[in-house]
Amino acid sequence: MGISHRIKMPKFKSVLVTGGAGYIGSHCVVDLLNAGYDVIAIDNFANAVCDDEGSPALRRAEQITGKKIAFYKADLLDKPQINDIFDKHDVDCVIHFAALKAVGESMQQPLLYYQNNLLGMLNLLEVMRSHNCYQMVFSSSCTVYGEPEKLPITEAHPTGSITNVYGRTKYFIEEMLKDLSAADEKWNIISLRYFNPVGAHPSGLIGEDPTKEFSNLMPYMSQVALGKKPVLTIFGNDYNTPDGTGIRDYIHVMDLASGHVAALKVLSDAHGRLKVYNLGTGRGVSVKELVDVFQRVTNTNIPIKYVERRLGDITAMWADATLAKEELGWTAQHTIEEMCTDFWRWQTMNPDGYAKKQKTTFIAVNGKS
Ligand code: UDP
Repeated sequence: MGISHRIKMPKFKSVLVTGGAGYIGSHCVVDLLNAGYDVIAIDNFANAVCDDEGSPALRRAEQITGKKIAFYKADLLDKPQINDIFDKHDVDCVIHFAALKAVGESMQQPLLYYQNNLLGMLNLLEVMRSHNCYQMVFSSSCTVYGEPEKLPITEAHPTGSITNVYGRTKYFIEEMLKDLSAADEKWNIISLRYFNPVGAHPSGLIGEDPTKEFSNLMPYMSQVALGKKPVLTIFGNDYNTPDGTGIRDYIHVMDLASGHVAALKVLSDAHGRLKVYNLGTGRGVSVKELVDVFQRVTNTNIPIKYVERRLGDITAMWADATLAKEELGWTAQHTIEEMCTDFWRWQTMNPDGYAKKQKTTFIAVNGKS
């Protein structure tokens, strides 16, 4: 795996993960358990699969690691419920993933996004403070940069010129965290600005399985490769890029997970500050390139059709990830080929995601009962 942050025992013992049953949350939980942390996970299943026994993703995370997770179905808008969970557990640090994240939906339902993402965060911070827990890693996004003035993009790039409501919730929260850490030096906060997370755990046991309609490139492309969707529409081939398609910095979800473990180690030594880091590979890949690599490594054929640019899309965005390397000791390890192979393994082992009827198939594939 090449992940270098697993050996030393952490200074924090217990980490509460909001949105733990989701795509990035569940992969991060695996890495936290492997690194020796006790994990308390909460999720309201707004965009994660839930069955009679709770979260299939988290049960599989337990299967991968051989460790137990304390899980609660809980909503950050229900402050008393969050308070009860903090009463029950001695939480050293919070990793806050839980948020609504669909750009299109955020434009149609701005109040829903502001209420869920901003109020959820306010409730969480207040409950943390009342339980003397002042350490947080926040799940932010490169979307806070808006259209890049210069590439690769560093953390010093201006933020706030954002074209969608989802992105603005991330930006407003970062501003809130700035004010909070300036007002009270007890807070130690790291905001991680993710580029484009893709891939899945190499076991094929956990992966991306949104319950809401999705439009991200890799899940959509693999649905086309599976024959579940007829064609991949590529949004624009007239961009000012070498092949005319948009460029992004795709990062393997396990690299993203290890970035959180690296952040926790630094956070436990920090004193009263907010730090912001890009989590990306530092390499830009076009839509066309990603589709070509995916077809090659998965030996599939993906019919494509070029259509108009998608509203609000930017031309190109990739990270300067030097700061995370220097200060967190973290760099992304996985190649584009691994991102595609691991995503495809997850998809083919679980063509219907975590749906119950697939469990038998999945168990048979692995020869376990
Ligand atoms: N994209 C595409 N077809 C799709 C989905 C996405 O051409 O069905 C392109 C999109 O225009 C962008 C890139 O793929 O250039 C990544 O889009 P995604 O929605 O995955 O992430 P974003 O960068 O928008 O957050």
